[in-house]
Amino acid sequence: MSKTIIAGPCSVESQAQLREVTLALKSIPEVTMIRAGVWKPRTRPGAFEGLGEPALGWMRDLTAELGVRFCCEVARPEHVELCLQYGIDTLWLGARTTTNPFMVDELCQSLHGTGAHLLVKNPVCPDVRLWIGALERLHKAGIEQLTAIHRGFSMYNNHGYRNAPLWEVAMELRREHPELPILCDPSHMGGRADLVAPLARAARQLDYDGLMVEVHPHPSDALTDAVQQITPKTLAGVIADWTSAPYPTSAAAADRALDPLRRKIDDIDHDLISLLSQRMAISKRIASVKRDAHLPVYQQARWADVVSDRLHQASSLGLDPDFTKELLEKIHAESVRVQMENEK
Ligand code: PEP
Ligand code: MN
Repeated sequence: MSKTIIAGPCSVESQAQLREVTLALKSIPEVTMIRAGVWKPRTRPGAFEGLGEPALGWMRDLTAELGVRFCCEVARPEHVELCLQYGIDTLWLGARTTTNPFMVDELCQSLHGTGAHLLVKNPVCPDVRLWIGALERLHKAGIEQLTAIHRGFSMYNNHGYRNAPLWEVAMELRREHPELPILCDPSHMGGRADLVAPLARAARQLDYDGLMVEVHPHPSDALTDAVQQITPKTLAGVIADWTSAPYPTSAAAADRALDPLRRKIDDIDHDLISLLSQRMAISKRIASVKRDAHLPVYQQARWADVVSDRLHQASSLGLDPDFTKELLEKIHAESVRVQMENEK
């Protein structure tokens, strides 16, 4: 299946900049469509907020001259009306917009019956329900062509990314809506030009349907998101990397090799579930001992010992410490819940 590559500047900054980047992107055959922001949601006031309607006119003229297609971010009903007026009918909802059901509802009213194609970025916070909610609202408004864009989530600890990828959140969306195409936006995810290629590669491994990448002819001069934009030449390399990754040629051969390994995984999972159930049964017995001795359910010193002992074991077995800690915390939280229930 062919992949969708959307590329273009974070913002349209001038007619010359738009023309330069459009000509460069037109020469990369894999580029499906050019992104260009003309209304920019800025975190702080006073920053460059986009050129608005005049930029849409330049986009329309470039489409007429070169046959390229553009897409644009919309956040208000008047943005939708203007884009459609200028012949731009692929529109995207930014992360801040997806977060707000009132804004999505207003947009739905202006989108109804237009036949526009909507790309919906994930909401700022890692709430898959909010993402699905925005997509469902659009679908109910008669928008048939919908695509999700995974651009990462704003967290207290972003683990070195501008927006933490949290691939598992996007996986949940894909589980619920397998029919929905999903693109990765490695630019807003990484927030740094050098992270675009590795994040794009990760999305490729996860079988995403394509990318939305910020591309500027002279990134260091960009008025918005300068540190994360890449040049058209770098984009060509990212695309080459993306498209050259081999596809499985014979699913049947792979299945034959995978089958016995999957049976092993099934067995291990059954053992894990059975062990967890045994562990919870012991927790219940512990609850009654604590109750009789008037001891609190939560024992900080014991918990610290458990974590340190298990992390030690995990490290000697080559398990990731963050993963191990998260798993232990989940198990411990459930064990505390079970003990509290048995307190009653
Ligand atoms: C953008 O695409 O330029 C943008 C503002 O993105 P996001 O909504 O992901 O922050
Ligand atoms: Mn941007």
